[in-house]
Amino acid sequence: MSTKLGGAILCNATSKGDDNKLDCRGVFTSFLAWAFPTTPRAWHSILTLYEYPTTDTIFINTAISFGHGRKINLTKVELPPQKGNFGLIVDIPQFYSFTEEGLYFIHFSIVGTTNTLSLPVKVITQPWPRVTKKQLNFLEKNSLVPNSVQITIICSKCSHPVLFQDSFLPGTTLAKSAHPFPDSGIYKCEECGDIMYLKDIQGQARSSIIATIPKVWRGGK
Ligand SMILES: [Zn+2]
Repeated sequence: MSTKLGGAILCNATSKGDDNKLDCRGVFTSFLAWAFPTTPRAWHSILTLYEYPTTDTIFINTAISFGHGRKINLTKVELPPQKGNFGLIVDIPQFYSFTEEGLYFIHFSIVGTTNTLSLPVKVITQPWPRVTKKQLNFLEKNSLVPNSVQITIICSKCSHPVLFQDSFLPGTTLAKSAHPFPDSGIYKCEECGDIMYLKDIQGQARSSIIATIPKVWRGGK
């Protein structure tokens, strides 16, 4: 018998459930993007393996490609032999920064075999989240709903943290030590000079605030 890849899904988060089963939260098939390159997206790839070996260690290679283009390696996972398991669920935390919208494939393979599995995933560009007059009116009148958001971005090169703030209401003063999001979306780390691309995470943050406005104020029925 040789180990086979059964299937794969992607989800936002996992935890251990009852009887050591895996609980997956936020299963998805597409990533939403507000600008490119995107802020690195973190997710879990959940893989099922069958006819799991009782004596051999196996390795799973994972990679990503834009369409059928060049594969870029993501993670290599080592799985020790296990007795008494017909199948195995493997939870692989991953992250990637997408550079353009379109169809991608996440590839899984058992090293040393021809056993592979490719999972399609779509990166979809979202319109820039703007607020209407009606929504602004709601945000002004309802102090329970946040009308600004603060996000700490950690420089990926030197780990220097920078606090950014975005606000919908005109005239809102920035919190102490907070920077406004740059119009260009590009920020140069003041410690090491590395470039941070912020437009995507700013769009994500604005869209999450708009989502807290009740539908009727968003122009829905
Ligand atoms: Zn830096």
